[in-house]
Amino acid sequence: MSAPEPVEPLPFIDLQAQRRALGDRIEVALRQVLEHGRFVLGPEVHRLEEVLREMGGAGAAVTCANGTDALLLALMLEGLEPGEAVILPSFTFAATAEAVVLRGGVPVFADVSPDDFNMSAEQAAAALQIARERGLRAAGIIAVDLFGVPADYDALSGLAAERGLWLVADAAQSVGASRGGRPVGSLAPVTTASFYPAKPLGAYGDAGAVLVMDPDRAALLRSLRVHGEGADKYDNVHIGRNSRLDTLQAAVLLAKLETFANELAARDRIAARYSEHLAGVVTVPRVPGDATSSWAQYTVRLPDGADRDRVRESLRARGVPSAVYYGKPLHRQTAYEQFPAAEAPGAEHLAAHVLSLPMHGYLEEAQQDRVIAALRAELD
Ligand SMILES: *Cc1c(COP(=O)(O)O)cnc(C)c1O
Repeated sequence: MSAPEPVEPLPFIDLQAQRRALGDRIEVALRQVLEHGRFVLGPEVHRLEEVLREMGGAGAAVTCANGTDALLLALMLEGLEPGEAVILPSFTFAATAEAVVLRGGVPVFADVSPDDFNMSAEQAAAALQIARERGLRAAGIIAVDLFGVPADYDALSGLAAERGLWLVADAAQSVGASRGGRPVGSLAPVTTASFYPAKPLGAYGDAGAVLVMDPDRAALLRSLRVHGEGADKYDNVHIGRNSRLDTLQAAVLLAKLETFANELAARDRIAARYSEHLAGVVTVPRVPGDATSSWAQYTVRLPDGADRDRVRESLRARGVPSAVYYGKPLHRQTAYEQFPAAEAPGAEHLAAHVLSLPMHGYLEEAQQDRVIAALRAELD
């Protein structure tokens, strides 16, 4: 018997294919920054903020060092006080809860719906009840647009208004998506974004932004990201932090924004094709009818009883990488199990069943077919 042919593994996200598609645009943009030499908060940063504001349909966009800092700045903007509770989904990346704890707040974990991976208003209300039972004063809600699908902000805004809470959208994964015809950036009063390289819109390093609907709130954010500076740089009027954006990253993002709409359309086509061919074997992701996704991840749910490790091993043997986002809900993680949590059957179910497949705007049909065939070979 001959040895199996070695297979060239597919990349999970192909940043080099994107770079080839962009030609020399990024190199040209970087060279311009090297020439003008304004490496921090330079002209490209201001141009990027204008593009992000417009794309998000927001009143203002203020960039910062990364998506975690964007959350921290949003919490500083909202004036979160030590000991106050913040409702957020348990099925998210740790940064959502981490920012709350770093500001002295208490994360109270809510469940999510297996259907769209997001926290509903009912689930947020159940977590508010837990906060009340613990004697905590709830200050706000952070909704997360998991895997690129915006949460139901109409319902969440209603709940926040009724309870006198602020509402922040953690849109680290959903930049470029929309709901009810409105772009991410205009769905909540405050929206945070990440431009980490693996996000739908990624820099060549860390970058983030806070978008606010009320343009008058931008001045405080601009101060907070530079140590709370006042009108005079050395007269500090707030306790801030250092969270300025590098001009080089803004230049990369501006270049990538030129093809971002095309990439989003390609991701949408690829997701539709995956779903068409995988619907019988796994539970494919569902995007609510009034929403578009930025497809930060294409995440399926394996059937009950499927051995996920075995499935992943079999995909790997066929050169198909996969990822598990997330294998443990936050309320089960060592650092976060001390905080209050609502019952979370949805999050538990997802943690045990999810599998994310290769997804990026340059995934060719032949590569998609390899992913589809590999999964079907194991599960059909
Ligand atoms: C990536 C991510 C963040 C943090 O963004 P960084 O830029 O990596 O700091 C926050 N929340 C969610 C949901 C994320 O996926």
